[in-house]
Amino acid sequence: MEKSIYLQKIVKEILSLAGDHFLARKIGQIKFDGTDYPIFIVESRFKNPKSKNIFISAGLHGNEPGSVYAIIKFLNRNGKKLSKKFNLYISPCLNPTGLDMECRYNFKGRDLNRDFRKVRTQEVLMLKKYLEKKKIKYDLALDMHEDNTFYVIEGFSLKDNPRGLYFYEVYRNRKNSDFGRKIVSSFAELFSNLWLT
Ligand SMILES: [Zn+2]
Repeated sequence: MEKSIYLQKIVKEILSLAGDHFLARKIGQIKFDGTDYPIFIVESRFKNPKSKNIFISAGLHGNEPGSVYAIIKFLNRNGKKLSKKFNLYISPCLNPTGLDMECRYNFKGRDLNRDFRKVRTQEVLMLKKYLEKKKIKYDLALDMHEDNTFYVIEGFSLKDNPRGLYFYEVYRNRKNSDFGRKIVSSFAELFSNLWLT
């Protein structure tokens, strides 16, 4: 692609996260339109076996770049502090070709978010191989998405669209079921600051 936001901007941002606190590992690459698209995982440089393991993925849907920019900004702001408390594993942009095309799907027209059970895409295969090789049990896994508030799908109206932060929570232990609610309320404070900056 002639002008690639991913190659010209996002890759630089991902690589610049590497340093004292994080490693940026290339887990593979996609060939699209004659160009190689490297795919990265950013992970804590030093892991503490006593710390909780957190996995965060963003950018599975190419037309939701907010998740990619948000996780990069979040790591730039809080990465140093968080890397002392947690072992972080971040997949900042798994669908770079979709991002460049501003399209939900990857360059082969596949939805990565529907590809984890019966894998058909190179991108998801790379990520699954990386995760399986690590053999880590994650205490928390987040997959970040973005909604278009103005897009109305059949059977719904504009007022049905979400206008804030929400998430679907899957938990192993019912006792932890208020965990999601706690995350949402802690974001309320952060969001009021984000709108101002
Ligand atoms: Zn999405």
